[in-house]
Amino acid sequence: MALPKKVEYLIIGAGVHGLSTAYHLAKYLKATGKGRGEDVLVIEKQAIAAGASGVACGNVRCNYYQEPMTHLMIHCMDIWESDPDYFAYNSVGYLTASFEPMREGLEAIYARHQSLGYPSTLVTGEKEVKKYMQGIFYDWQAEKLTAVLHEHRGGHAWSRQAIHGLAIKAEREDAQIVIGPAVTGFQYNGDGSVKVVETDLGNIEVGHVVVAVGPWIKNLWRMLDLPTKVPDPRHPGQMTEVWRFLALQEGEIEINPYIHITNDGQRPPLVHVDSDVPLYSEDGRLVWDQPWGIYFKRDKHAVQGGAVPVDVGTECEVDPYGTRSPYYCVGDDFYDLWVASLAHCMKRYEGQRKFASKMPSGGVGAFSADNFPVFDFMRPNVYTIADSNHGFKMIGVGEQVARILTGETSKLLEPFTFKRFEQQKALPKSNAPFPWM
Ligand SMILES: Cc1cc2nc3c(=O)[nH]c(=O)nc-3n(C[C@H](O)[C@H](O)[C@H](O)COP(=O)(O)OP(=O)(O)OC[C@H]3O[C@@H](n4cnc5c(N)ncnc54)[C@H](O)[C@@H]3O)c2cc1C
Repeated sequence: MALPKKVEYLIIGAGVHGLSTAYHLAKYLKATGKGRGEDVLVIEKQAIAAGASGVACGNVRCNYYQEPMTHLMIHCMDIWESDPDYFAYNSVGYLTASFEPMREGLEAIYARHQSLGYPSTLVTGEKEVKKYMQGIFYDWQAEKLTAVLHEHRGGHAWSRQAIHGLAIKAEREDAQIVIGPAVTGFQYNGDGSVKVVETDLGNIEVGHVVVAVGPWIKNLWRMLDLPTKVPDPRHPGQMTEVWRFLALQEGEIEINPYIHITNDGQRPPLVHVDSDVPLYSEDGRLVWDQPWGIYFKRDKHAVQGGAVPVDVGTECEVDPYGTRSPYYCVGDDFYDLWVASLAHCMKRYEGQRKFASKMPSGGVGAFSADNFPVFDFMRPNVYTIADSNHGFKMIGVGEQVARILTGETSKLLEPFTFKRFEQQKALPKSNAPFPWM
């Protein structure tokens, strides 16, 4: 398809946010008579699901310490559950088993779940936790875990399939998707709004722009000439960079995935564990003596999961998903820790280190100054969806953005405006070792 010279709504990026926005916007424009599906154009430099959305572990959960995140996640969960086939969604639940420093936080999340009617179970006490876990996995053996929060909604989706499902749904609503053009710059009107989006395949005159470029946000931020520093939410009186990059450590052990099964023969919930028990390799070497956090699930052809991400600084010059990216591959250190932690939790994973995959896995995420998303108009007609790496599960954000673009407001997205940094309204931080919990 040729690149149109003019369009009312231009969406940059064909990941979860760009395509969810395109699908819902085309649908709402038609339903309200405010426009046509063809008024929505997605441009993508590489391929559908080429970015973070296509490599995500795919977990979907509502385990958030911050209240605005809980509300937003329940909305997202409704959307995942609305079309599990197209969204390749496995509604198997999500379970966190944690050490003592996280118990209070999990109790608070559970209390909120209860008040909102979100189904979850809380178990506390070391003996009780072990018994609960052994009721799911007979060989559960992890020590010193004192709280479990088991969400009975949530689970995980097959990430690439889900994004292609969104693309099909967007095209069915007549939204256009053009693969190939990379955005290289913007031209402005006198009021600072964007008049023309420049791409390497030609310019496009626009009415509105949605920026949904995942880990490439810093490039687009620069092109849009937006502030690079904000008041540091964690260190009052200091300024800090708006964006920094973390490498998400994920991998697989290439074993029969059906080894990962519950006592009653079902696909297990996605399991997340935080602990500080030292980890040892199969030959008795100490591999980790700091607090650690991991997660794992049954994948299609292996057992897949990840560990706490690694900070890689405020610049990521290489294309995060380019083949030469140094951040794309996890190494031996990751597998030493991750497989040792699996074996620490479940006997069935003892002796499995040798099956660690050699395939590239993991990827880069762009994190904001307070580790929470920026959903906001950053210029009068430019809406930015920058999810601070919370985002595969946030399939419902695009639905809210579509409402905003068709003239409604969104209470769910309001807490994530950029002005929160100036107003010192950073969201509270949990005790999790992960920046996204
Ligand atoms: C390894 C890993 C595992 C993850 N696991 C999970 C998980 O289990 N659950 C969860 O909720 N989140 C997870 N995340 C985070 C989640 O994947 C991201 O937050 C989310 O997918 C971002 O979606 P997006 O649509 O903003 O960006 P992306 O999916 O990255 O899409 C952006 C698109 O924009 C395109 N683009 C970039 N620049 C330009 C340009 N100049 N011109 C044109 N196109 C451009 C890119 O090619 C890309 O296709 C994970 C992230 C990583 C890296």
